[in-house]
Amino acid sequence: MSISPLMPVYPRCDVRPVRGEGCYLIGERGERYLDFAAGIAVNLLGHGHPKLVKTIADQAATLMHVSNLYGMPLGEQFAQKLVDNTFADTVFFTNSGAEAVECAIKTARRYHYANGQAHRHKLISFDNAFHGRTLGAISATSQPKMRDGFEPLLPGFSVVPFNDLDAALAQIDDNTAGFLLEPVQGEGGVTPATQEFMAGLRKACDEHGLLLVLDEVQCGYARTGTFFAHEQYGVKPDIIAVAKGIGAGFPLGACLATEEAAKGMVFGTHGTTYGGNPLAMAVGLTVIEEVLADGFLDHVKAMGARLRAALEQLIPNHDEMFEDVRGMGLMLGVKMKEGFDARTFVGHLRDHHGLLTVSAGQNVLRVLPPLVIDESHIAECIEKISAGARSFSAAQAA
Ligand SMILES: *Cc1c(COP(=O)(O)O)cnc(C)c1O
Repeated sequence: MSISPLMPVYPRCDVRPVRGEGCYLIGERGERYLDFAAGIAVNLLGHGHPKLVKTIADQAATLMHVSNLYGMPLGEQFAQKLVDNTFADTVFFTNSGAEAVECAIKTARRYHYANGQAHRHKLISFDNAFHGRTLGAISATSQPKMRDGFEPLLPGFSVVPFNDLDAALAQIDDNTAGFLLEPVQGEGGVTPATQEFMAGLRKACDEHGLLLVLDEVQCGYARTGTFFAHEQYGVKPDIIAVAKGIGAGFPLGACLATEEAAKGMVFGTHGTTYGGNPLAMAVGLTVIEEVLADGFLDHVKAMGARLRAALEQLIPNHDEMFEDVRGMGLMLGVKMKEGFDARTFVGHLRDHHGLLTVSAGQNVLRVLPPLVIDESHIAECIEKISAGARSFSAAQAA
């Protein structure tokens, strides 16, 4: 038997974390890492947050799982909080981002079905998008590495260039249900939608009776400095998929929709065994309380501006290597120049400087710290990237 017991779909690196403390991870041999990956935009309160730990321990001892056959007091409370603080009127809880995207796709199709227009099933999605790994979610992308060998995929998607409003509008036909996009593409390279693009898609939705479906799994939940990224565009969606930060490390996702958009989602149309269980709901309530507490979003904005400025200041000193800084809030990316591979640099920072970051498409180094970082963490990160750039550049030249 040569296959590993963990199915070998991930090229795992040598970091083997066994413990977390705030913004740091500690490996098997006791080595410390500054964690500016945060489980890929998940651990927004850092590791071992006392309130979150206590919530989980207390709720696990009280009630962990029942079934969605029963009334769910904690779920009602959490859903109400989400409704009170967003565009949405109703929430379906899931265990992951891909499931939240699936629910969003199903809600969009079912909306047109409920309107007697079942033929309007096609979602227009975008190049370099990432929506998760279910068959539905990979059908909404154009990336061969995710699609090859899994075909036939779900019909009813057409993929056009991101931030190209004309291309998106040109795809609209009698079968179109709506648009599906990330306001800030994460895996694809930390690319924010332009204002004109988002506003133009909303306008087209209003004119043609389409739904604007946003995947805020990565960019949502305070990551960009507002509760959800779309708020910064002044654009209201009809449906959004949420996950990652919403559970701050506990598996949790959600699909949020307006009453109108959710009109097809009646008894029996959708379901989940684990989704919205009491333990997940207790976690969700604790996390949202932290995120919506006075000053939290302002802190993210302030730290985002500071980290961005500091990264931008690095560029003139390493302009052979770095092209620009992109992103919003604490979802930032440094685009690397040709000849310097972001994935290799991420490994270099990890192995030689104790800094965890993530690579993204388009040769981008992605920086996704916990949202509770302070200035000292930013200074430490910048020191490490600066030192890392010098040693990496020298190694490449050698
Ligand atoms: C991570 C991610 C997903 C998938 O979430 P999973 O929890 O891995 O299923 C979907 N969309 C976006 C934008 C993501 O970043």
